[in-house]
Amino acid sequence: MTDKLQLIDSRTTDVGGIPVARAIPVKERRTIGPWCFLDHIGPARFAPGEPGLNVGPHPHIGLQTFTWMLEGEILHRDSLGSEQVIRPGQVNLMTAGQGIAHTEESVAGHPSVHAAQLWIALPETHQATRPRFDHYPDLPRWQKHGAWFTLLIGTYQDRQAPTLSFAPILGLDLQADAPCTLTLPLAPEFEHGLLALAGEVTVAGQTLAAEQLAYLAPGASEVIISLSAGARLLLIGGEPLAKPLQIWWNFVSFDKEAIRIAAQDWQSGDPRFGEVAGYVGARLTAPSLAGL
Ligand code: MN
Repeated sequence: MTDKLQLIDSRTTDVGGIPVARAIPVKERRTIGPWCFLDHIGPARFAPGEPGLNVGPHPHIGLQTFTWMLEGEILHRDSLGSEQVIRPGQVNLMTAGQGIAHTEESVAGHPSVHAAQLWIALPETHQATRPRFDHYPDLPRWQKHGAWFTLLIGTYQDRQAPTLSFAPILGLDLQADAPCTLTLPLAPEFEHGLLALAGEVTVAGQTLAAEQLAYLAPGASEVIISLSAGARLLLIGGEPLAKPLQIWWNFVSFDKEAIRIAAQDWQSGDPRFGEVAGYVGARLTAPSLAGL
């Protein structure tokens, strides 16, 4: 088991004015199954008058953005006209496909934010799918071996999440009221990532440092984890991608040319991405294509 386990440190970055820990992509690991981005946002508290999180209009292609809310509230708006507040225990899922633009803002009156924000690469056959937005206020939730399980996406044992997915995938949240140790069955064809969102978590005998991701290579049929009282663990998984994925700014593709075109379309104001109605503020600018 332990020869399949790799511990990876997150890097700290800034998203919309909030410091975040980015677990993937990092140098040591770019993807875990179709998951290609994992930010742990907060927990952050805002002083009275501080604006909180505020991410202006920006585009995406080739991916789904996936938000799992733990504390606070965030308002999502997009160029399809969606306007959705996400609250703790809920998932927001935006399927970008051929192109969409969106904004995210803290909701006034909520002085804190704590969330996990992830991207899921769409399979090559669905890269250019029609954009859509889905909100999941109720997810399968159950208690076992002293921990609360919430299935965020995919299937786990005999349960299935309602969340739209295009390839085999897993997203699972575990929460412990009291200290517990449990054996989690895993799909051996999947690779997995485990990140503590709160408290102390031990994976296969290794205690995770703050913002450290445990990566498990395919072939593991179970993993033993321990959670401290109040600990919270995010488990993600999927089948390793067959082809190298290009991730550049907010674009994901198996084809660099598609990213180049998307960047030019965004910069030229092409109607492909649409307008985000209701947001007050400037749209974000793509970085120089020289880095691609
Ligand atoms: Mn975004």
